[in-house]
Amino acid sequence: VTTRKPLMAGNWKMNLNHLEAIAHTQKLAFALNDKDYKAVEVAVLTPFTDLRSVQTLVDGDKLKIKYGAQDISAHDSGAYTGEISGPMLAKLKCAYVVIGHSERRQYHGENEEIVNGKVKAAFRNGVVPILCVGEGLDVRKAGNQVAYTLAQVEGALDGVPAEQVEQIVIAYEPVWAIGTGEVATPEDAQEVCGAIRVRLAELYSQAVADKVRILYGGSVKGSNAAGIMAKPDVDGALVGGASLDAEEFVRIVRYRD
Ligand code: PEP
Repeated sequence: VTTRKPLMAGNWKMNLNHLEAIAHTQKLAFALNDKDYKAVEVAVLTPFTDLRSVQTLVDGDKLKIKYGAQDISAHDSGAYTGEISGPMLAKLKCAYVVIGHSERRQYHGENEEIVNGKVKAAFRNGVVPILCVGEGLDVRKAGNQVAYTLAQVEGALDGVPAEQVEQIVIAYEPVWAIGTGEVATPEDAQEVCGAIRVRLAELYSQAVADKVRILYGGSVKGSNAAGIMAKPDVDGALVGGASLDAEEFVRIVRYRD
């Protein structure tokens, strides 16, 4: 029997300034209750400029909402103008950091080597990576989604030891479903999430594979969350657009209701 606690993580992308972040987090905190936190882990993944505000709120009010960043430098310090390091995120007590989101792969040329360096930087600093993988429409149309996504997972985890891999969160996000309103079917999500878990078992062990949380991402809303969450290898959702609406995000957290 596996005991993976579902994770519902809101990726705010480049939205909400630090004042809006406080208002939004307060709204979420006000709506969520102990029953929610018992059933589901809730996280917000914010712009760097929001992290201190969210930390202050979470610390001050002892909120159970987790928070994290959307990117990390592969380097821990030095002459890397504009970058944010793992030690900086750790100092802000970030639980998570998104790594290899499709928007960063697409607009910032992040390849497997870069993503791998960032995964290692996150673990080196005690921040859990939310590693994003997933195929584009051309790969999906050719029916190569499983092989493509598994290659991304293997590339990102190259040289990462099993005791770190078992802590990672992997988000399967088919690029054609991100921000498009076109959600993958629960069967599509299960096909790739299940294949990722099988490959983790082959590469490490069944025990490691059973611990890793695998999320689905791509146009998740309150109305489609339950169907996706019903699949055995889907352990949560990475939510973009719908996470900016507190009520809608709470509906996703309460997918069982
Ligand atoms: C995302 O950005 O990770 C995402 C899944 O976005 P959306 O929910 O808006 O499709």
